[in-house]
Amino acid sequence: MDNNKLAEMLFPNIDTTPDDMEKRFPERSLEEGAMVTRLGPSPTGFMHLGNLYGAFVDERLAHRSGGIFYLRIEDTDDKRYVEGAVETIIDSLKFFDIKFDEGASKDGDIGEYGPYSQSQRKEIYQTYVKELVRKGLAYPCFLGEEEISEIRANQEAEKLTPGIYGEYAACRNLSLDEIEENIKAGKAYVMRLRSGGNPAEPKEICVADAIRGEVKMPENYQDVVILKANGIPTYHFAHAVDDHLMRTTHVVRGEEWLSSLPIHVELFEKLGFALPIYCHTAVLMKSENGNKRKLSKRKDPELSLDYYKEMGYHPQAVREYLLTLLNSNFEEWRKENPEVPAEDFPFSVDKMSTSGALFDLNKLNDVSKDTLVRISAEDLYTFMTEWAEKYRPDAVEDLSDKEYILKILDLGRSGNKPRKDFVNAGQMIDFISYFFDDKFTIEEDLPAEAAADAKEILSAYLRSYDHYDDQEAWFNKIRDIAVNLGYAAKPKDYKKNPDDYKGHVGHVSTVIRIAIVGRSQSPDIWEIQQILGEERTIARVKALI
Ligand code: GLU
Repeated sequence: MDNNKLAEMLFPNIDTTPDDMEKRFPERSLEEGAMVTRLGPSPTGFMHLGNLYGAFVDERLAHRSGGIFYLRIEDTDDKRYVEGAVETIIDSLKFFDIKFDEGASKDGDIGEYGPYSQSQRKEIYQTYVKELVRKGLAYPCFLGEEEISEIRANQEAEKLTPGIYGEYAACRNLSLDEIEENIKAGKAYVMRLRSGGNPAEPKEICVADAIRGEVKMPENYQDVVILKANGIPTYHFAHAVDDHLMRTTHVVRGEEWLSSLPIHVELFEKLGFALPIYCHTAVLMKSENGNKRKLSKRKDPELSLDYYKEMGYHPQAVREYLLTLLNSNFEEWRKENPEVPAEDFPFSVDKMSTSGALFDLNKLNDVSKDTLVRISAEDLYTFMTEWAEKYRPDAVEDLSDKEYILKILDLGRSGNKPRKDFVNAGQMIDFISYFFDDKFTIEEDLPAEAAADAKEILSAYLRSYDHYDDQEAWFNKIRDIAVNLGYAAKPKDYKKNPDDYKGHVGHVSTVIRIAIVGRSQSPDIWEIQQILGEERTIARVKALI
C-alpha cells in the first residue's frame, strides 16, 4: 500500500505538517518547575462542582508554580453545545476567583497557543492524522453502525471484548483501490488508529499518576476512532494533540478518564509526543443514609455551581471548603495559620485522596462560618448587598443603612470567642432580620419557668431601664428583677434547690431577649440594645407587655 498516496487521497487540502505545528507552537519559555494546566470543559451550559474542583487543582498547580492556566473549550460534540456556555463557564469560575491566564475568553482567544476551541482546530488535527496515515498508523474505516453492532453481538456471544480490533477491524487491510472505490461511492468513513497492541496478550503499561502513584493497566489494542465521519476528532485524539501543542505539563481530570488512559498512552506514543503528567482526581461523593454515592445532577442541587451563588455562599468560603476536601492537611494548616490567606497554603497533589472525595454540605457550612469570621464587616457588607440586589431585592432597602448594618455584622465577632453564626448571605439576611421593625416578629415561646411572670418582668425592666447603663449595671438590674420575683440569681443555685425558686436569672433574661429579639438565642442583648437604640428597645418591650 502506498501510504503517501492514501494520505493525499484522504486529506488533499492539508498541506501543513507536524513540523509546521511544532514551529507554530514552540515549547513555552517558563521557569524550571512551572506547570501548565488547563480546564477543558464541554460547553453544555451546566457548570458543576466537579468542574470547580478540577479547576481549583489546575489553578493552584499553575499559579503556585509560576506557570500558566488556560481555558480550552472542548466542543467536538456539537450536539451538546449551548449558546452562551463559554460565558457561563468563565463567569461561574470567576465568581470563585478562578482566573485563567490564557485561552478562550469573552473577548475571543487570548494567547499564542490557540485557537482554544476544538471546533476551530480541524486543520491541526487533520495534519496529524494525515501524518499517521503516511506512516501506516491510521486508516479509514467504512463500517456502518449496523455492521459494528453485528460485530459486537458476535463478540458478546463468544464472550470476547467488544470493539474494533485485530481480526474484527474489517477495514484495516483494505487496498488503495478499495478505499478509493468506497470514497467515490460516497460511503461515510471514520479514521481509526492502527493499534499496535496485542489483543491476545496485551502488555502491561505503567503510568505515574501524580495523585495515584503508579497506575498499571493492560495496553490498548483497539483501533479507536480518532476522527469522526465529519472530520472532527474524538476526545482521545484532541486531548493528545491539544495537550501536546498547548504544552500542557499536567493533565488534571476526573477519574472517569482513567479507563481510557491506555488509549492515550498509545496515541501519544504513535504521535511521537511526550506524555504529560496525569492527575486523575477522585469522584465527588455524597453520603446518604450511611451509603456513599456519586453526586447526581437530578437529585443534588448542590452539584450545580449556581447553587452556591444563589444561596449566597461567599466564594472564599467555598474555596476554603474545596481545599479541605482536596488536601487532607489543609484543616490542620488552617488551625495553625488562622489569618493567612488560603493562597499561601502549600497545595500539593500528593495530599489528594484517591478514593471518592466526600462532599458534605454541613461541613461546608461549618467551614463557611469559620471563614466569614475572618472577613471584615465592610467586605461582608459589600458581598451581602451585591448578592441581595440579585437574589433578594426585598432586602435591599433594609441593607441600605450601611452604618447600622456594619454594627450588626460586627456584633460579637471580635474577642477570642467570636460568634460564628453567619453561613451565607441568604441566611445572614434572615438571621439579622430582627433588627428591622417590619421583619421583627416574636418567633419563639416564652420559657415555661417565667411565662406567667412575663408582664411583671418586662414592666420591672422598663421601669429600671437606662439606655446609658454599662453592661454590668444593666445585668445587675436584671438580676435584681429576678431575685425580687423569686428566681435564683445564679443557674447553679436553682439546679441545687429547684423547689426554692420559680426558675433562674437565665429564664428572666430570656423573657427580655424574646421581647427584643423575638428569639431565645441571640448575641448579647445589651449590645443589641445599643445598636437598636433606646426608642426601639423600649417600644419592643412595651409591645410584648
Ligand atoms: N471535555 C472533557 C470533559 O468535559 C475534559 C476532560 C479533560 O479534562 O481532559 O469532561
